[in-house]
Amino acid sequence: MRQKIVAGNWKMNNDLSATQDLLKDLKQQVFPEEVIVMVAPSFTNLYPAFETLREHPVEVIAQNMHQSKNGAFTGEVSASMLQSVGVNTVIIGHSERRAYFQESDAQLAEKVNTALENDMKVIFCVGEELADRNHGDHFEVIKAQLERGLFHIAEKSWKQIVVAYEPVWAIGTGETASPQQAQEMHAVIRETITEQYSKAVGQNLSILYGGSVKPTNAAEIFGKEDVDGGLIGGASLKASDFMAIVNAFS
Ligand code: PGA
Repeated sequence: MRQKIVAGNWKMNNDLSATQDLLKDLKQQVFPEEVIVMVAPSFTNLYPAFETLREHPVEVIAQNMHQSKNGAFTGEVSASMLQSVGVNTVIIGHSERRAYFQESDAQLAEKVNTALENDMKVIFCVGEELADRNHGDHFEVIKAQLERGLFHIAEKSWKQIVVAYEPVWAIGTGETASPQQAQEMHAVIRETITEQYSKAVGQNLSILYGGSVKPTNAAEIFGKEDVDGGLIGGASLKASDFMAIVNAFS
Protein backbone atom coordinates (compact mmCIF):
# COMPACT_ATOMS: atom_id res chain seq x y z
CA MET A 1 0.00 0.00 0.00
CA ARG A 2 1.25 3.44 -0.92
CA GLN A 3 1.54 6.01 1.84
CA LYS A 4 -0.99 8.83 1.86
CA ILE A 5 0.75 12.11 2.59
CA VAL A 6 -0.37 15.70 3.10
CA ALA A 7 2.46 18.19 3.52
CA GLY A 8 2.03 21.88 4.30
CA ASN A 9 4.64 24.13 2.72
CA TRP A 10 4.59 27.32 4.76
CA LYS A 11 7.15 29.03 2.48
CA MET A 12 8.45 32.40 3.78
CA ASN A 13 5.43 33.00 6.01
CA ASN A 14 4.98 33.23 9.78
CA ASP A 15 7.47 34.53 12.34
CA LEU A 16 8.10 32.56 15.52
CA SER A 17 4.95 33.60 17.34
CA ALA A 18 2.69 33.05 14.33
CA THR A 19 4.33 29.66 13.82
CA GLN A 20 3.67 28.70 17.43
CA ASP A 21 0.05 29.83 17.13
CA LEU A 22 -0.47 27.69 14.04
CA LEU A 23 1.23 24.69 15.64
CA LYS A 24 -0.91 25.10 18.74
CA ASP A 25 -4.03 25.05 16.54
CA LEU A 26 -2.76 21.96 14.72
CA LYS A 27 -1.97 20.15 17.96
CA GLN A 28 -5.60 20.38 18.99
CA GLN A 29 -6.76 18.49 15.92
CA VAL A 30 -7.34 14.79 15.62
CA PHE A 31 -5.32 13.39 12.75
CA PRO A 32 -6.48 10.34 10.79
CA GLU A 33 -4.05 7.49 11.32
CA GLU A 34 -3.85 6.52 7.67
CA VAL A 35 -2.45 9.87 6.52
CA ILE A 36 1.11 11.03 7.11
CA VAL A 37 0.97 14.75 7.84
CA MET A 38 3.98 17.05 7.50
CA VAL A 39 4.61 20.76 7.88
CA ALA A 40 7.52 22.76 6.49
CA PRO A 41 8.15 25.98 8.45
CA SER A 42 10.99 28.40 7.63
CA PHE A 43 14.52 27.43 8.73
CA THR A 44 14.36 29.72 11.78
CA ASN A 45 11.22 27.98 13.01
CA LEU A 46 12.25 24.37 12.46
CA TYR A 47 13.61 23.71 15.91
CA PRO A 48 10.78 25.42 17.81
CA ALA A 49 8.34 23.44 15.65
CA PHE A 50 10.19 20.21 16.35
CA GLU A 51 10.08 20.94 20.09
CA THR A 52 6.39 21.81 20.01
CA LEU A 53 5.50 18.71 18.00
CA ARG A 54 7.65 16.24 19.95
CA GLU A 55 5.64 13.02 20.50
CA HIS A 56 3.09 14.33 18.01
CA PRO A 57 2.37 12.53 14.72
CA VAL A 58 2.86 15.64 12.56
CA GLU A 59 6.38 15.61 11.09
CA VAL A 60 8.46 18.77 10.73
CA ILE A 61 10.22 18.94 7.37
CA ALA A 62 12.45 21.46 5.57
CA GLN A 63 11.69 23.49 2.45
CA ASN A 64 15.20 23.24 1.06
CA MET A 65 18.84 22.50 1.92
CA HIS A 66 22.29 22.86 0.41
CA GLN A 67 24.00 19.95 -1.31
CA SER A 68 27.38 20.36 0.40
CA LYS A 69 28.33 18.84 3.71
CA ASN A 70 29.52 22.15 5.17
CA GLY A 71 31.77 25.06 4.25
CA ALA A 72 31.80 28.61 2.93
CA PHE A 73 28.25 28.85 1.61
CA THR A 74 26.91 31.97 3.27
CA GLY A 75 23.23 31.79 3.99
CA GLU A 76 22.86 28.06 3.38
CA VAL A 77 21.82 25.13 5.58
CA SER A 78 23.19 21.57 5.40
CA ALA A 79 21.62 18.13 5.80
CA SER A 80 23.34 17.51 9.13
CA MET A 81 22.14 20.88 10.46
CA LEU A 82 18.59 19.89 9.60
CA GLN A 83 18.98 16.49 11.20
CA SER A 84 20.41 18.04 14.34
CA VAL A 85 17.10 19.85 14.86
CA GLY A 86 14.99 16.76 14.23
CA VAL A 87 14.32 17.18 10.51
CA ASN A 88 14.60 14.06 8.35
CA THR A 89 12.60 15.01 5.28
CA VAL A 90 13.34 17.80 2.81
CA ILE A 91 11.51 19.32 -0.15
CA ILE A 92 13.84 19.52 -3.15
CA GLY A 93 13.24 21.21 -6.47
CA HIS A 94 10.24 23.34 -5.63
CA SER A 95 9.43 25.46 -8.67
CA GLU A 96 10.13 28.63 -6.66
CA ARG A 97 13.66 27.35 -5.98
CA ARG A 98 14.06 26.48 -9.66
CA ALA A 99 12.71 29.82 -10.89
CA TYR A 100 13.85 32.44 -8.34
CA PHE A 101 17.09 30.84 -7.17
CA GLN A 102 18.15 29.32 -10.47
CA GLU A 103 18.48 25.82 -9.07
CA SER A 104 19.42 23.62 -12.00
CA ASP A 105 18.53 19.99 -12.58
CA ALA A 106 22.19 19.10 -11.92
CA GLN A 107 22.19 20.94 -8.60
CA LEU A 108 18.91 19.29 -7.61
CA ALA A 109 20.37 15.87 -8.43
CA GLU A 110 23.25 16.68 -6.07
CA LYS A 111 20.83 17.73 -3.35
CA VAL A 112 18.99 14.44 -3.78
CA ASN A 113 22.28 12.56 -3.40
CA THR A 114 23.15 14.45 -0.24
CA ALA A 115 19.73 13.76 1.26
CA LEU A 116 19.97 10.04 0.43
CA GLU A 117 23.50 9.77 1.81
CA ASN A 118 22.19 11.24 5.05
CA ASP A 119 19.23 8.82 5.15
CA MET A 120 16.80 11.66 4.68
CA LYS A 121 13.52 11.43 2.80
CA VAL A 122 12.96 13.69 -0.19
CA ILE A 123 9.84 15.27 -1.60
CA PHE A 124 11.04 15.95 -5.13
CA CYS A 125 8.97 18.52 -7.02
CA VAL A 126 8.36 18.60 -10.74
CA GLY A 127 6.05 20.84 -12.72
CA GLU A 128 5.58 22.41 -16.12
CA GLU A 129 5.02 26.06 -16.98
CA LEU A 130 1.83 27.19 -18.65
CA ALA A 131 3.65 27.68 -21.97
CA ASP A 132 4.83 24.05 -21.87
CA ARG A 133 1.26 22.88 -21.47
CA ASN A 134 -0.03 25.21 -24.17
CA HIS A 135 2.59 23.81 -26.55
CA GLY A 136 1.65 20.25 -25.62
CA ASP A 137 5.11 19.67 -24.11
CA HIS A 138 4.03 19.05 -20.52
CA PHE A 139 4.66 15.32 -20.42
CA GLU A 140 8.11 15.69 -21.94
CA VAL A 141 9.04 18.48 -19.51
CA ILE A 142 8.06 16.36 -16.50
CA LYS A 143 9.83 13.29 -17.83
CA ALA A 144 13.00 15.33 -18.35
CA GLN A 145 12.82 16.74 -14.81
CA LEU A 146 12.45 13.22 -13.39
CA GLU A 147 15.26 11.89 -15.51
CA ARG A 148 17.72 14.66 -14.66
CA GLY A 149 16.85 14.90 -10.99
CA LEU A 150 16.21 11.31 -10.00
CA PHE A 151 17.12 8.67 -12.55
CA HIS A 152 20.70 8.40 -11.38
CA ILE A 153 19.63 6.99 -7.99
CA ALA A 154 19.73 3.31 -7.11
CA GLU A 155 16.50 1.34 -7.12
CA LYS A 156 16.67 0.78 -3.37
CA SER A 157 16.77 4.54 -2.74
CA TRP A 158 13.26 5.03 -4.08
CA LYS A 159 11.81 4.13 -0.72
CA GLN A 160 13.18 7.50 0.45
CA ILE A 161 11.54 9.43 -2.39
CA VAL A 162 8.14 11.04 -2.76
CA VAL A 163 7.36 12.91 -6.00
CA ALA A 164 5.21 16.04 -5.97
CA TYR A 165 3.63 17.13 -9.23
CA GLU A 166 3.06 20.88 -9.07
CA PRO A 167 2.14 22.58 -12.33
CA VAL A 168 3.75 26.03 -12.05
CA TRP A 169 0.65 27.72 -13.46
CA ALA A 170 -1.41 26.35 -10.55
CA ILE A 171 0.85 27.41 -7.67
CA GLY A 172 -0.57 30.28 -5.63
CA THR A 173 -2.73 31.34 -8.56
CA GLY A 174 -6.06 29.92 -7.43
CA GLU A 175 -6.01 27.94 -10.66
CA THR A 176 -5.99 24.19 -10.00
CA ALA A 177 -5.25 21.42 -12.43
CA SER A 178 -8.48 19.54 -12.94
CA PRO A 179 -8.62 16.18 -11.17
CA GLN A 180 -8.39 14.62 -14.65
CA GLN A 181 -5.28 16.62 -15.54
CA ALA A 182 -3.68 15.66 -12.23
CA GLN A 183 -4.55 11.98 -12.65
CA GLU A 184 -3.27 11.96 -16.22
CA MET A 185 0.10 13.41 -15.24
CA HIS A 186 0.43 11.26 -12.12
CA ALA A 187 -0.19 8.15 -14.22
CA VAL A 188 2.51 9.25 -16.69
CA ILE A 189 4.94 9.87 -13.81
CA ARG A 190 4.26 6.43 -12.33
CA GLU A 191 4.57 4.76 -15.73
CA THR A 192 7.83 6.57 -16.54
CA ILE A 193 9.39 5.53 -13.24
CA THR A 194 8.07 1.98 -13.59
CA GLU A 195 9.67 1.70 -17.03
CA GLN A 196 12.98 3.08 -15.78
CA TYR A 197 13.09 1.01 -12.57
CA SER A 198 10.47 -1.62 -11.81
CA LYS A 199 6.81 -2.24 -11.18
CA ALA A 200 7.46 -2.37 -7.44
CA VAL A 201 9.10 1.06 -7.43
CA GLY A 202 6.25 2.54 -9.44
CA GLN A 203 3.53 0.97 -7.36
CA ASN A 204 5.04 1.90 -4.00
CA LEU A 205 5.83 5.51 -4.89
CA SER A 206 3.64 8.20 -3.35
CA ILE A 207 2.92 10.99 -5.83
CA LEU A 208 1.49 14.20 -4.39
CA TYR A 209 -0.37 16.91 -6.24
CA GLY A 210 0.32 20.56 -5.45
CA GLY A 211 -1.10 23.81 -6.77
CA SER A 212 -4.03 25.67 -5.22
CA VAL A 213 -5.37 22.67 -3.31
CA LYS A 214 -8.19 23.88 -1.06
CA PRO A 215 -10.78 22.28 1.22
CA THR A 216 -13.27 22.55 -1.65
CA ASN A 217 -11.26 20.64 -4.27
CA ALA A 218 -9.06 18.29 -2.21
CA ALA A 219 -11.45 15.32 -2.02
CA GLU A 220 -11.93 15.15 -5.76
CA ILE A 221 -8.21 15.42 -6.50
CA PHE A 222 -7.22 12.92 -3.77
CA GLY A 223 -9.92 10.56 -5.02
CA LYS A 224 -7.98 9.93 -8.22
CA GLU A 225 -6.22 6.60 -8.49
CA ASP A 226 -2.66 7.86 -8.85
CA VAL A 227 -2.89 10.83 -6.50
CA ASP A 228 -1.53 9.86 -3.08
CA GLY A 229 -1.84 13.20 -1.34
CA GLY A 230 -0.93 16.83 -1.62
CA LEU A 231 1.71 19.49 -1.13
CA ILE A 232 -0.24 22.45 0.16
CA GLY A 233 0.92 26.07 0.17
CA GLY A 234 -1.55 28.86 0.93
CA ALA A 235 -4.24 26.63 2.42
CA SER A 236 -1.77 25.11 4.90
CA LEU A 237 -1.42 28.43 6.74
CA LYS A 238 -4.81 28.09 8.41
CA ALA A 239 -5.23 25.03 10.65
CA SER A 240 -8.91 24.53 9.84
CA ASP A 241 -8.31 24.60 6.06
CA PHE A 242 -5.29 22.34 6.34
CA MET A 243 -7.21 19.85 8.47
CA ALA A 244 -10.11 19.88 6.03
CA ILE A 245 -7.62 18.94 3.31
CA VAL A 246 -6.05 16.20 5.46
CA ASN A 247 -9.52 14.84 6.15
CA ALA A 248 -10.46 14.94 2.47
CA PHE A 249 -9.03 11.43 2.21
CA SER A 250 -11.79 9.89 4.20
P1 PGA B 1 -0.30 26.68 -3.27
O1 PGA B 1 1.25 26.22 -3.25
O2 PGA B 1 -1.07 25.58 -2.57
O3 PGA B 1 -0.34 27.96 -2.54
O4 PGA B 1 -0.69 26.80 -4.71
C1 PGA B 1 1.62 24.90 -3.44
C2 PGA B 1 3.13 24.77 -3.35
O5 PGA B 1 3.83 25.67 -3.83
O6 PGA B 1 3.66 23.78 -2.80
